Amino acid sequence: MKLSLRRLLFDLIFYEKCPICNGKSYWEIAPFCINCWERITPLEVQKIKSGNFNKYFWKYIDTLYSYSNYEGPLKEMIHYFKYHKIMRLGRQLGRLLSKIEKPSVDLIIPVPLHYKKLLAREFNQSAILAKELSKAWRIPVAFDCLIKIKNTQEQASLNKSERERNIKDAFFIQKTLENKKVALVDDVITTGSTLLECSKTLKRYGKVYEVCAITLARAN
Ligand SMILES: [Zn+2]
Repeated sequence: MKLSLRRLLFDLIFYEKCPICNGKSYWEIAPFCINCWERITPLEVQKIKSGNFNKYFWKYIDTLYSYSNYEGPLKEMIHYFKYHKIMRLGRQLGRLLSKIEKPSVDLIIPVPLHYKKLLAREFNQSAILAKELSKAWRIPVAFDCLIKIKNTQEQASLNKSERERNIKDAFFIQKTLENKKVALVDDVITTGSTLLECSKTLKRYGKVYEVCAITLARAN
């Protein structure tokens, strides 16, 4: 009853068409429809320990888990979540991400945003995903250990070597996490420069023992 009332109100107030297929949107994942949502295909191998990322990536990252490839409906949905600021979509994507094998870690840490970016975007997309993982897996999440001190350009607008330079020394550790195993969460991995730089900071200055990176999508 509750569900159908909600559904009815949604249809009356926010009738939207799916931006991908023009179909009727579904309230939990609006403006997308349930058919497009179901077309998000999980990767056959979600957990990897090798792969072609930044050349130092595997020096600092122990394992990488990604739910799906960065393509099709998922790519559109991540874009809507981040740039159209649709938080409920982010929460659903976080729940979807929690379907990967649960890593054996002590703490979840989202890739932080610089405070100026946070003010402009109003939320940190990685923090929303991290919160959902924390709820599903019952593992604590820490938002204050790792912070971003350099207001970098958007990595998406840069090439491989520019990305490396752009993100270098961008993060700072506020609290050491001696011998802890950490899950580092981001929405998309491309060259891996951001995750690598976070992990380097966590391990060098935060004394973290192991870092597994977790992303919703893999673009590589
Ligand atoms: Zn659709």
